[in-house]
Formats: sequence, structure tokens, C-alpha cells
Amino acid sequence: MTDIDPTRPGLGTWENDVFDECVASVRTALEEGYRHVDTAQAYGNEDAVGEGIAAADVDREDVFLATKIDTSNLGYDDVHATARESLERLGTDYVDLLYVHWPIDTYEAGETLRAFQELADEGLVRRVGVSNFLPRQLEEAAAVLEDPVCAHQVELHPSLQQEELRAYAAENDHYLVAYSPLARGRVLDDPVIEEVAAKHEASTAQVALAWALDLDRVVPIPKSSSEAHIRENWRAADLELDDEDHERIADLDRGEREIDFRGAPWNQ
Ligand code: NAP
Repeated sequence: MTDIDPTRPGLGTWENDVFDECVASVRTALEEGYRHVDTAQAYGNEDAVGEGIAAADVDREDVFLATKIDTSNLGYDDVHATARESLERLGTDYVDLLYVHWPIDTYEAGETLRAFQELADEGLVRRVGVSNFLPRQLEEAAAVLEDPVCAHQVELHPSLQQEELRAYAAENDHYLVAYSPLARGRVLDDPVIEEVAAKHEASTAQVALAWALDLDRVVPIPKSSSEAHIRENWRAADLELDDEDHERIADLDRGEREIDFRGAPWNQ
């Protein structure tokens, strides 16, 4: 069974919804070496992501493909029905990871996760994941699921370092998949990150990604539809930051979110 490689970034695909561009970026990424691709029902691009995987010179079994059930589809019957629709759009018999996108709206731990566990038992889903959960919601999920959660996907970047959720991930042995690892572009002109980048003759994006890759259990999934950025982000794994760099970046934690709204779990 393919697993996440925690030493390399994955590819995010939110807002990469122009069909041909999305196909090309997934293909470019896989041929560059990426093996972890992240999509969601809500991104409206599962068909293009599937097409990109099919077009790449890489076996499907070597790709770790993750999608997410939309918040409007988290009722028991809708999880079953729409997971199958996702597989159809993705052009595959299984996904490596199926996430609950957000624990809001139609989410109800018992019913939602019973359907997720059944999909895993049927082999349509290799692993179960959750996204945007609070620690108490992670505890509740663990009590319902027979299989352990493989990954918790949350916003994580130098301005939002998620210390509590990283500790929880280490204790419970799951990956913390870091979304918006470039803070949606905002880290790129941070003066401290710029200085660290200049010191290593690297880009600011590479510094942010190398920093995230160095954290225990953390796997960043930068989105890019630019061929040059896709390649640049992949090479971030070759950048070695030192203790001084880590200390400087640790000081940038401001608890600042890029993705926030009134109904988010942390605002309830
Ligand atoms: P991000 O990856 O932090 O930033 C993406 C932005 O950075 C894009 O504008 C991209 O533009 C640019 N970029 C990428 N590489 C670059 C580079 N090397 N140099 C300069 N600019 C660069 O933000 P994100 O898309 O919000 O997060 C990443 C992925 O996480 C999403 O695509 C999605 O898969 C996932 N996500 C999940 C959730 C959730 O609720 N679970 C929420 C948000 C995101 P170009 O395309 O032009 O390179």
C-alpha cells in the first residue's frame, strides 16, 4: 500500500480548476517526482486531477491520491454515494486517503465516520483522514473509527505553527498535512524568510516548505499551476536549514489564519 512520503511535499490543487491547466500541472508534478496529490469534491477538479494522473508516466499504484467529502455530503448515505461519484470522476477504483473536509454542516461523527469506515472496509478507500478538526473532535473520531486516522489536514505555515496539533499528531502517530503552507503567498515576502532564503541562495517558498518538512510528522502540500513553481517547490526538500534558521522561523508564529470564517470549528 502506498503511503505518504513525509520527506517530500505533495501537490495541492485548490483553485486549479481550469481543466487543461490542472491536467498539465498534475502531470508535470508526477513526472518531476511528486507522489502525493490532494484534491476535494469542493474543488471541482477531480476529473482533471484523474486525467493528469492517467496522462503521467507513473503507475497509479505509486501515487498517493487524496480527496475530501464536501461538507454538504457528510450524511451517511451521501458519503457512500458521493465517494463513489468521486472515484468515477477521478477515474480510479480507490483513493489512498479520504478526508472529512470540515466537521461542520452535515457532519455527525457517528454517522459520517461509520460510512467512512465502511468505505475503507470495502477497499474503496485505503485510509481515512480528517481536516480542520479540534483535538476533542479527533478524540471523538478515534472512538468511532476502527482504523486509526492516517492524516489530519490543517492550515500550517510560519505564521500559524499549530504546536498543539503537531504534538497531538506525534502522540497519535498520524501525519499533519499542512495546507496553505505558503500562507497563500503571504510568506513569500516575509523579511525573515527572505533573509534565510538569501543565506541559502534559495527561494522564500523553498524556505517555508523546507521548514515544514523538518517538523515532525508534517507534510506540506503547496498548490501551484506554474511549471516553474512546481519544480522549485519539489526541490525544497533538498534545502537544509540549520538551527539558527529554525529559531528565527519559530519566532514568526502569530496564530494568523488565511482560511477563517465564523462557522469554522475554532470559532464555535
Ligand atoms: P498555498 O499552497 O499556501 O499557496 C498557493 C499560492 O502560492 C498560489 O497562488 C501559487 O501560485 C503560489 N505559489 C506556489 N508555489 C510558489 C512558488 N514557488 N513561488 C511563488 N508563488 C508560489 O495555498 P493553498 O492553495 O491555500 O494551499 C495548498 C493546498 O492545500 C490547496 O491547494 C488544497 O489542496 C489544500 N487546502 C486544503 C484546505 C482544507 O480545508 N483542507 C484549505 C485550503 C487549502 P501559482 O499557482 O501561480 O504557482
